[in-house]
Amino acid sequence: MNSYRHSAQLLRAVAHPARLRLLYALRDGEECVCHLTTLFRQRQAYVSQQLMFLRQAGLIADRKDGLRVYYRVQDPRVFDLLDAANAMVGVKEIAAEARTLAACPCPKCVDKHSNACKCKRHLPRGKKC
Ligand SMILES: [Zn+2]
Repeated sequence: MNSYRHSAQLLRAVAHPARLRLLYALRDGEECVCHLTTLFRQRQAYVSQQLMFLRQAGLIADRKDGLRVYYRVQDPRVFDLLDAANAMVGVKEIAAEARTLAACPCPKCVDKHSNACKCKRHLPRGKKC
């Protein structure tokens, strides 16, 4: 019965569209909470709550860097499970999320968009002068 309980716990953790999207957003590497919040266009409290659920199930791990908290997938085998679930319901491919977002305050996005314009005035939008 115990092995069923552990599997059920894992399945319960992924049984939410927002948490599925979070996992896929982390598929190619870690992201900070602020990036995921910008991506989801949701309150940080909501995104953090979903991340907490995934972390408690052991699916993701966090890392603190100063004031920022980064999350990464703990065991990539979860995507075997999710890809199988998608195939069973006829979802052929999950569109990759944008890796950098113009309105995102995370260091990765700011770096990327500051490269687009050296004047620094256009930092948030990354437009050229
Ligand atoms: Zn970002």
